[in-house]
Amino acid sequence: MHYNLLGNNMQVYFNFFFKNNKKRFIINLGKTLGRRNIMIKVGVSNHHVHLTREACDVLFGKDYKLTVKRPLLQKGQYAANETVDIIKNDKVLEHIRVVGPLRNYTQVELLDSDAEYLEIKPPVRKSGDLDGSETVLLRGPNGTYEAKESTIVSNTHIHMSSEDLITFNKTKDELVNVECNGNTIENVQIKSDDTCVLEMHINKDLAEELNIETGDEVKIC
Ligand SMILES: [Zn+2]
Repeated sequence: MHYNLLGNNMQVYFNFFFKNNKKRFIINLGKTLGRRNIMIKVGVSNHHVHLTREACDVLFGKDYKLTVKRPLLQKGQYAANETVDIIKNDKVLEHIRVVGPLRNYTQVELLDSDAEYLEIKPPVRKSGDLDGSETVLLRGPNGTYEAKESTIVSNTHIHMSSEDLITFNKTKDELVNVECNGNTIENVQIKSDDTCVLEMHINKDLAEELNIETGDEVKIC
């Protein structure tokens, strides 16, 4: 009898607690389990170039409009039909794809193997962080353009929308470790702006080294 009474009291207390906290409890449990299970798709990036209006005018002609070859997953971004040659130290990398739309900075993203070929040492950086980076000459059908402090090897990063930041409990520019095919990739940057759709970008050289392909899935560990 005494035991049952205690049991009932516990039950009443539990019911009261659960009723008042059920919603929050379920949301938190869902988020915890969800985070653990959410896989992030990989996009392998080859070398490419982003252009300003000014650079595009010089390379392709005044007010030239880039044309879309293939839309990319990130909102509004596309691989253009247009390509440029990259020239440095009497070496030429031919037909490097332009990625549109135009930006307010010109940025050349190379692979380590390209950098070795061109005999330069571009820093590994996040997009837009170009101070003190390498300078190369771009050549298009309409002319050549000196892209000063434009050239980097892009870091591995994960694009997240503002909702993704909440789901994963991460902040913009935070560095995380990622598990992929039994390997751990350290210091992967969280990138977030209005265009971001959940996807990890890794450059082709590193992807090949780690045996990762576009469409593979990774998780934050
Ligand atoms: Zn990216």
